[in-house]
Amino acid sequence: MIGGGISGLVAADRLTQEGLRVTLVEADDRLGGKILSESLDGVTVEAGPDSFLAREPWAVDLCTELGLADELVAPAIFGAHVWTPAGLRKIPADFTFGMPSSPIRALRSGILSVKGASRAAADLLSPRPLSGVDLSIGSFVKRRFGQEVLDRLVDPLLAGTRAGRAEDLSLAAAAPQIDALARSNRSVILGLRSARRHGAPGTGPPPFLTIRGGMQVLVERLATRLRDRADVRTSTLAERLQRSGEGSHLVHLRGQGALRVDAVVIATPAYSAATLLEEVNPEAARGVGEIEYATVVTITLVYPSSAGAVPAGGSGLLIPSSQSKTLAACSWYSTKWPHRAPGEGRLLIRCFVGRASTDAVTQLDDRELVNRVTRELGEATGIQGAPDDARVTRWERALPQYAVGHLDQVDRIERALERTPGIALAGAGYRGSGLPDCIKSGHAAAQSIVTRLDLRSAQ
Ligand SMILES: Cc1cc2nc3c(=O)[nH]c(=O)nc-3n(C[C@H](O)[C@H](O)[C@H](O)COP(=O)(O)OP(=O)(O)OC[C@H]3O[C@@H](n4cnc5c(N)ncnc54)[C@H](O)[C@@H]3O)c2cc1C
Repeated sequence: MIGGGISGLVAADRLTQEGLRVTLVEADDRLGGKILSESLDGVTVEAGPDSFLAREPWAVDLCTELGLADELVAPAIFGAHVWTPAGLRKIPADFTFGMPSSPIRALRSGILSVKGASRAAADLLSPRPLSGVDLSIGSFVKRRFGQEVLDRLVDPLLAGTRAGRAEDLSLAAAAPQIDALARSNRSVILGLRSARRHGAPGTGPPPFLTIRGGMQVLVERLATRLRDRADVRTSTLAERLQRSGEGSHLVHLRGQGALRVDAVVIATPAYSAATLLEEVNPEAARGVGEIEYATVVTITLVYPSSAGAVPAGGSGLLIPSSQSKTLAACSWYSTKWPHRAPGEGRLLIRCFVGRASTDAVTQLDDRELVNRVTRELGEATGIQGAPDDARVTRWERALPQYAVGHLDQVDRIERALERTPGIALAGAGYRGSGLPDCIKSGHAAAQSIVTRLDLRSAQ
């Protein structure tokens, strides 16, 4: 196993459950990859993911299996505001992925103009479901709803959740629910309404969950179980793979010789997988090497109670690219997760900086970044003064950008890998970057290795 983020940990865990001998190598001096909980001002804050989608089973099931079911906490408040030229406006709760289920409510929310809402209503007149090859989220939204929905609703959502640009991202890979809905309904608006009838928002399970003690608890539970059954090595970088006789591979480790293995799961970001695969499977290496990543920075700020209050009625703020701000999004952390609020009414605010192809801003030094985001927060919310404390975490090439045609690309990579049996890929770079998708990818990679080894021993 190469890579000790959530995908690699899950794949290793599954393989040990099948009774296989597993060695996991992780380049960093800790396990967890993008999952990193830290202490700031006496409370647990997240430098990486702070929650996961609950409507997909993978993360919830894993937490339950690890005895964490009673530790799952839903946010105290849902929904986001968007920063418009006229001020902050609340995005209606049932707009999915920023796509409006009602142009009238988009108008009443103050986010769309009369002209923009009328244009959005054109989706109701769409004659037939979406068909044919993949397209960008940007061109889909422009065609269905017009430029305003793209600029004022969908762009800020993508900047805040994927650090991505609508013009570049694949509808099928980065917004699979919308793609499916558009392919089975002639109108997205009608499709969203029908989905809502079958599970109205607020009546189902909470959409996101976190773990009371921090997301790192999930990593620690998995690591503890794994360390009992497998050889887990941190500060160990895998440099390259090499074929070694019939069916086995050598994993060359920096400064530590090589491991001979029957099979290997590469659960690293795609650009590292590209280097590892270069010698054994150049075609797959080329394919994974083409997957782009965006750099993001998270900045957690602690404000005294005298600084003011965050806007009521939502858990955060999204900022459209058209506002030309350093901030891409922020979440009112202590309001969203009151169990993590610092004492004495102090506020915790988590800010996100970084959008694909505007990496320059992520290269600013910590002090400049904190100055800029606090200034912009003041402008948006009225929160005054300097924060008492700030924690800046830089995530270089962290969020995969699924370009148009990404899923076909992943199919091609998987076909190329069939020529080197015993090597599987897992991780955020391929079929979903949220934690549930990563966990699912770890399961799938482990299963493909088990199938391969069973076949070999049957021969
Ligand atoms: C700031 C931020 C916020 C996020 N928020 C959310 C959220 O709220 N909800 C959600 O669901 N998702 C969120 N995500 C996405 C999610 O956290 C990641 O997609 C997921 O954690 C990736 O897991 P992974 O195991 O695939 O990869 P990683 O976590 O990147 O792990 C890969 C590991 O491989 C190691 N490695 C790389 N190369 C080598 C090598 N050659 N040899 C050995 N080891 C190597 C790396 O050191 C790393 O530890 C967020 C991501 C970021 C960056």
